[in-house]
Parts: sequence; structure tokens; C-alpha cells
Amino acid sequence: MTPDCGTYDVLAGNGGGAAVAIKHPRHLETGADMRALTLVADRKLELADIAAPAAPGAGEVQVRIKAVGLNHLDLWGYRGMAFVKRKLPLVVGAEAAGEVTAVGAGVSFAPGDAVVMYGALTCGACNACRGGRDNLCENVGGIMGFHVDGFARDVVNMPERLVVKAPAGVAMRDLACAPIAFATVEHMLFDNAKLKPGETILVHAAGSGIGSAAIKMAKAIGCTVITTVGDDAKAEHARALGADHVVNYRTDRFEHVVRKITAKKGVDVVFEHTGAETFNGSLLSLKRGGRLVTCGATSGPSTTLNLMQLFQQQYKIFGSFGASIENIRTVLAKMAGGLLPVIDTEVALADFERGLARLETRQVFGKVIVNF
Ligand SMILES: [Zn+2]
Repeated sequence: MTPDCGTYDVLAGNGGGAAVAIKHPRHLETGADMRALTLVADRKLELADIAAPAAPGAGEVQVRIKAVGLNHLDLWGYRGMAFVKRKLPLVVGAEAAGEVTAVGAGVSFAPGDAVVMYGALTCGACNACRGGRDNLCENVGGIMGFHVDGFARDVVNMPERLVVKAPAGVAMRDLACAPIAFATVEHMLFDNAKLKPGETILVHAAGSGIGSAAIKMAKAIGCTVITTVGDDAKAEHARALGADHVVNYRTDRFEHVVRKITAKKGVDVVFEHTGAETFNGSLLSLKRGGRLVTCGATSGPSTTLNLMQLFQQQYKIFGSFGASIENIRTVLAKMAGGLLPVIDTEVALADFERGLARLETRQVFGKVIVNF
């Protein structure tokens, strides 16, 4: 099985600036150990007591985690993949928001600041990082919560450059959707597909965290949105979000409905992440010269492609993974302006697996949030 992150090549080892010592917790003068939710084997999580990190060093920010957003990435990691370079136990949680508790020398944050974290340990020095394209980093040290220790713990020390200040007045549960879900959608729609006001877009899986975000972001700039759902209850939710047309993919061939809605012309953009089951139908839904952007393959990683159709129809296909730190700043500003994520469920740390089960069974409409 291939994960959404494909062949992302990373180093093994602990990250986040704080190695986790599960077996021999180190007690700090400042008090007790802290909680960390660890993956100890495929599909097996354990709540561990680990040592709280030391005071932040120069250039580091210490963050108390308040909320973790779940993504399909967490599900891929939880199920286990033989070829992924990682060491267990691994602290899970790839997307989080929290509050600064302490800062090291030379850091511009202050205790009490609300922040979100960029969860890939990028180098900050390569051409891609210096050009603001951290998701193309040539020396990435892993994705936190997937390859290296993540955010499902009470406190974490982070390099300052991977911490982004959040606007006041936005709830932690909403902020926790910024670094992966919202920023990924921002990057797909606007950096890659270059979606413009007035265009028509097909968004797959309105009920997913990124699908619901894509609908809201596309409607916010005045696009016509066609979306797919797997049941009628989700269709109602999708319309409430502003989707102009909703197709139940279990009862109708979405590509036929799209051609009908667009008077056989096709859409300008398709937002793909479902993969094998939908990819060819997605291409058939595009107008000539249309753009398809994809960040996932939840229904399977492989498909066949009609190359004659690809060049004759002049399709543009964009693979998209992660986001830039600037994308996170942009979506935080959108949240401050009222464009908020759809939250399906909020669970406590001990119910992390219940949250994953909702994602796995596709019961969700919107994001699952784990509160601390
Ligand atoms: Zn780099």
C-alpha cells in the first residue's frame, strides 16, 4: 500500500528537538513527567509517561500542545507501512496548535502566544527552503508524527523557524487544522491549480477534512463548486457549506453529471485526493486545457492513463504534497477573517483511536480534533 506521501525520502530518527525516553522517564525539577501518545506497533497506541523537554535552547520555542488535527496521514502511519523509515515507539500527531510556554535566547515569540507548527523538519538552508518552498526541502529530516516524534504530547520544543504565530480570537481546535489540512488546500488550489474567481471546480469527497476546506475556499472567491459525497446526509452538509451541485457517487457516475451540469464543457479545475477510483473520471470531467491537482490516493495508488486524451485535451496535472510556511500564514489570516474549518468531532487524547476509526470508515464530515 502506498501512502499519500508516496516515496518521500527521509532520515530515520527522533525529531522535534526532543528525544523521547519511554522506558526511563527523566524527572525534571519543574515537576512531573508529561503525557505522550505513542505508536508501539501497527495499530497499537499507548499513552506513555515521558520526561518533559528541557528549557528551550537558543532559537527554540517551547509549546504546550492544545489540539491536534487528524489527517489521512495519521491513518497511514497507524496502519503501518513496511518501507517507511521510522523507529517505534513514535509519538503520533502530525498537525497541532498550542501556546508558547517558554522561549530560548534570540526568539521573537513570547509566552502566551498562540501558535501552530510546521510539522516537517526542513533544513531552512537549501535552495527550496530559502525560496519559501519548504515542502521541496532537499534535506528534510522527516514528518513529525509519521517518520519522527510528533505532537500528541503535552509539551514540545521546536525550532523557531517552524513555528507560526496564530491570530488572536481563533479557537485552538480551528487553528489545529491550519498546518496540514488548510495549508495543503491553499497550496493545491492557489499555488498549483491557480484557481481564479468565477471558475468551476469539482471537489471530491465533500465530507473529508480537505474536501470541506476546498469547498469553503473556492466559494470564498466566487467559484462554482460541484462536489461528490457517498450518502444523502453528507449531501445536505455539502449544500450548507455552499456547494452549488452535489453528486452522490454511489448512485450516479459523477463524470456524467459534471458534463451535464457544465453543458458538456467540463470544469476548469478538479480537486483530487481519492485516487484510483476517481482519477479517470476526474480527467473526463475537465474541460480542454483544464487543471487537475491531487494530494492523495485514499482509494488506491495506481491507475492507467490515456496519453492520447492527456495531450489532445491539453490537461495539466499537478501533484501536490504539503504546503509552504507562507501557505500556513495565509490560511491563518483566512481563519481570522471567518473562514473556519468544518469540525466533525472533538475527542480527548485517550480517544485518539476512535478519531482515527471515524476517518478510516469515512463516517466524517469535516475534521476530527484531539483536545489536550
Ligand atoms: Zn531545506
